Amino acid sequence: MSRIAYVNGRYLPISAPAVPVEDRGLQFADGVYEVVKAVDGRLCDLDRHLDRLERSLNALAIPMPMTRAALVRVLCQTLRRNGLKNAGVYLQIDRGVAPRNHLFPKNTRPSLIVTVRRASFPKAVELAQGVGVITLPDQRWKRCDIKSVSLLANVLAKQQGAEAGCREVWLYDAEGCVTEGSSSNAYIVDQAGRLVTRPLGPEILGGVTRTVVLELARAAGIEVVERPFTVAEAHEACEAFLTSTSSLVLPVTAIDGRPVANGMPGSVSRELLQRYCAHIVSAK
Ligand code: PLP
Repeated sequence: MSRIAYVNGRYLPISAPAVPVEDRGLQFADGVYEVVKAVDGRLCDLDRHLDRLERSLNALAIPMPMTRAALVRVLCQTLRRNGLKNAGVYLQIDRGVAPRNHLFPKNTRPSLIVTVRRASFPKAVELAQGVGVITLPDQRWKRCDIKSVSLLANVLAKQQGAEAGCREVWLYDAEGCVTEGSSSNAYIVDQAGRLVTRPLGPEILGGVTRTVVLELARAAGIEVVERPFTVAEAHEACEAFLTSTSSLVLPVTAIDGRPVANGMPGSVSRELLQRYCAHIVSAK
């Protein structure tokens, strides 16, 4: 079955030329996005994703192109038309089409694009054995809490990580503290068994998976400390892992080529992965 995209009111083959040349998403990266996971045809944690979408849009003064209910219908319809039950649903809203000018155009309708891809969850071996990350300076802008489509610094970091044979890159700030991954949130477990992750703020994207995983951790009696941690602390940690909609809870077993503890996923990471998998098959 060929892939179908929703583009500004039309369902089209993914390869169809559909976005006008002067779309501001294309020319200025003037827009935001979300990736929602579909499991067995159900969109997981959809309300949390749509809440974040509205926060990102508000921060950029871009109106919703349609009501929330209509948007949900478009997401479900695009999923159905692609004949997939387990998928990543990508939606992008940008400021719309207007002659190129930095200033906000007046009376422009925001553009909405929705695409669907077969789910690309980590392989069983990656979940069982963990993955490696490298650390690099965080070169992104100062509003990483907005899920902007402007991802150039993330792209460059991810590429450098891949060239070093790593699945992800952990970014660090001027103080040597880890902010997050290039497309995921970052966590360590310290010597006292506490789960440590950077607090919400403009330096990180508030991951939907992060919110869920911290709730699951607290419910499991794991102490959660939201504070910055340094790269040096990560090197000495008992465990490390990352989270995102597509990576789930993925153990990190090597950082900068050094094994984390004994180089195998620890019990906190394994327990949270298990609880998160239970959450996505049951939660709305
Ligand atoms: N941080 C960044 C920079 C991301 O790009 C993502 C996901 O794309 C995340 C964190 C994790 O967010 P979520 O759990 O909502 O997928």
